[in-house]
Amino acid sequence: MKREIFEIENLEICKACGGLCCKSFPGLVTPKDVGAPDTELMRKNLLEMFRSGRYCVDWINQEEGLYFVRPAIKGSETSVFDHSYSGECTYLTPTGCQLIFGKRPESCRTLIPKVNERCDPQGYTRMKVAKMWQEYVNLLIDCAVEIENEEMWDIGNLF
Ligand code: SF4
Ligand code: SF4
Repeated sequence: MKREIFEIENLEICKACGGLCCKSFPGLVTPKDVGAPDTELMRKNLLEMFRSGRYCVDWINQEEGLYFVRPAIKGSETSVFDHSYSGECTYLTPTGCQLIFGKRPESCRTLIPKVNERCDPQGYTRMKVAKMWQEYVNLLIDCAVEIENEEMWDIGNLF
């Protein structure tokens, strides 16, 4: 049976916790977050996101085309491709997430906070989200390479 997905924010629980999830790894951006299935809108949004330095492409298995998008990890904001194992989300501030709830990645909006037990990701694993991206993988890689090339061009012009 298909499970119904809920978007839930519970400031009280998360405030007391201090953002353990965001400190360990950023949330996962889905194609819908960037405008899917409208590929022109997706291209525009992905280019903007990668150009900002706040988002990157990560992967589970490059040979199998299993890539996904997530906010950058603090200190790695200039890497369009980043495969860090763990690290704190660039959007975490001392007072919580810098983004309004509706602008957060889908897996952040659907993570159900719990007390004294593991918070419930409602099935949003890296594998699940990478599979959502498979249909758009060429678009995703094109956008990331375009921004990476722009950055290399900018660095080249410094010397
Ligand atoms: S979702 Fe869970 S781990 Fe994340 S801040 Fe809230 S209580 Fe903490
Ligand atoms: S986007 Fe916000 S809620 Fe999601 S991991 Fe980053 S700091 Fe946490």
